[in-house]
Amino acid sequence: MNCLEERIAKDGVVKEGNVLKVDSFLNHCMDVSLFKEMGAEWKKRFAGKNINKILTIEASGIGIASVVALEFNVPVVFAKKNKSINIDGDMYVTEVESFTHKNKNQVIVSKRFLNSDDHVLIIDDFLANGCALQGLISIVGQAGATVEGIGIAIEKGFQSGGQIIRNLGYQLESLAIVDSMDAATGTITFREQ
Ligand code: 5GP
Repeated sequence: MNCLEERIAKDGVVKEGNVLKVDSFLNHCMDVSLFKEMGAEWKKRFAGKNINKILTIEASGIGIASVVALEFNVPVVFAKKNKSINIDGDMYVTEVESFTHKNKNQVIVSKRFLNSDDHVLIIDDFLANGCALQGLISIVGQAGATVEGIGIAIEKGFQSGGQIIRNLGYQLESLAIVDSMDAATGTITFREQ
């Protein structure tokens, strides 16, 4: 077991509806030492890739991406969930369906912060059905930039996102892949990596 898997086994809480709660160390209270170790692992897995920017999505990706960015020594851009209907031409825009809130959000990134020279590492906390990632990939595509790789903290391997993204040909590196989890017993099974 790696350190993230160990922490999920210790402090993760399985909720009904295929939701894994990790708010005590990943996305409410944040264990930044753990994020640092995760960043070092992604740095190894993406060694040799020419990465000059990290892209994530608000809110829970921002903390992880910021610590990881220190490891790569590059800036972080986060996609914002847009509240106003008025989008001017200065934004890349896509629509993302939220797994946890079951609503659709327009997601935006200013054209000032992503362009065709960029080689992007996408980072997020969870991969479930892949909607958030497909939105971020679309934004990179609109910018004419390159996706060098995708780093996910926790992939729920029993949902479709991982297969969809790997089938698109991206290097997807999930630090923990949950193959099954049971809300009744609290059991979590990880994929051997
Ligand atoms: P997807 O778009 O792949 O269906 O879902 C990914 C997004 O939904 C992530 O950005 C994450 O914020 C949220 N998410 C999906 N599954 C879970 C989960 O089990 N627990 C938590 N805390 N967030 C999740």
